[in-house]
Amino acid sequence: MQRDTLVFDIIQKELQRQRHGLELIASENFTSLQVMQATGCVMTNKYAEGYPGRRYYGGCEFVDQTEQLAIERLKQIFGCEYANVQPHSGAQANGALLLAILQPGDPILGLDLSMGGHLTHGSPVNFSGKIYQPHFYGVTREEGLVDYEMLEAQARKVKPKLIICGASAYSRDWDYARIRRVADEVGAFLFCDMAHPAGLIAKNLLSSPFEHCHFVTSTTHKTLRGPRGGVIMMKKDFENPFGLKDAKGNIRMMSNLIDMAVFPGTQGGPLEHVIAAKAIAFGEILSDEFTDYARQIVSNAQAMAGAFVAKGYQIISGGTENHLMLIDLRNKNITGKKAEQVLNNADITINKNMVPYDDKSAFVTSGIRVGVPAITTRGMKEEHMQFVVNAIDNVLMNADDENTIATVRKSVNEFMNSFPLYPELG
Ligand SMILES: *Cc1c(COP(=O)(O)O)cnc(C)c1O
Repeated sequence: MQRDTLVFDIIQKELQRQRHGLELIASENFTSLQVMQATGCVMTNKYAEGYPGRRYYGGCEFVDQTEQLAIERLKQIFGCEYANVQPHSGAQANGALLLAILQPGDPILGLDLSMGGHLTHGSPVNFSGKIYQPHFYGVTREEGLVDYEMLEAQARKVKPKLIICGASAYSRDWDYARIRRVADEVGAFLFCDMAHPAGLIAKNLLSSPFEHCHFVTSTTHKTLRGPRGGVIMMKKDFENPFGLKDAKGNIRMMSNLIDMAVFPGTQGGPLEHVIAAKAIAFGEILSDEFTDYARQIVSNAQAMAGAFVAKGYQIISGGTENHLMLIDLRNKNITGKKAEQVLNNADITINKNMVPYDDKSAFVTSGIRVGVPAITTRGMKEEHMQFVVNAIDNVLMNADDENTIATVRKSVNEFMNSFPLYPELG
């Protein structure tokens, strides 16, 4: 077969883009070379429906070993009793979990998408809002913090079967114990989707949802810095409360229901090459190097937030405790959409984002979301955050001046040269 230079040339351009640009999308990161190598390995060829030791195909002795390693390492990271590493993505993990514990039409309660929540937490355009009956809580208008009183009032009113906490654009820690109290009061399961801050939770830099939530899901490619994928965990397995029994008449455990909801419920063959990469990434997370990385993320985010505030930017909730911040640009007279476009022209990548109580559409938005996991992986420290904020401010304050944007772009490209990315790739 002839080498497909058309595609490989495009991939090479993407490598150059990643090298030269300032990557501030809060959900992105750069995996290690070994994680990337595993995602391109021979295990992509293997069918392995089922779970280690009980597959529907022969020849699974080696993928069993890597999948088991991924499971054991993930359980060690979070000190939990159960882990499923097969979900293809965060959305797949959430889809499987909801399938395992809910019936169609069941009421669910999650954080509103426009307040920082995720599509899979009940949005009407997502399966979670079409199959189940979605209800929402928000953040307070004044402080931008999760409105626990509203959450409690909604829970008592709509009696959800499931309360979902966790977010995609929220810069503060969560009071899981408080949500668990109301979940117990109304008879709901509590589920934390820690897709964004999981890497910080792994190193105890944020409170752990595991003590209080029945179920926890995560992506593996955000702050966990692994390959694209999802996982589902439980601190403690427990007997399913639905009275479901197996063929021998034994009551099924929740772990059985979740495993069955992943496969055969929502997926076919697992991506064993990606699972091997997850095992490698989880091994990296267990290292002291990753502890330093996670701490540096928090320090960088706080330094960046301070630099933005000093320039008069309005950060929702006034600052950050994790890896990201949400900035309301209305006092700077530029929309999120325009900001995203002009920053992209300067090789600075962020995403537009609705702010709480936004008066603009999800397509235009009043804000941007900025995160530091990727630039922290590049090697940036607190002292580099001023350069980043100056560059962003310079572009936003001169959004119609192509010369300024070209100048910033040049300085960004030069700056990024001092933080090599995948030098092994030539
Ligand atoms: C990113 C994210 C997901 C979805 O992850 P995908 O891998 O993109 O499907 C789910 N939940 C939350 C809170 C997220 O931030």
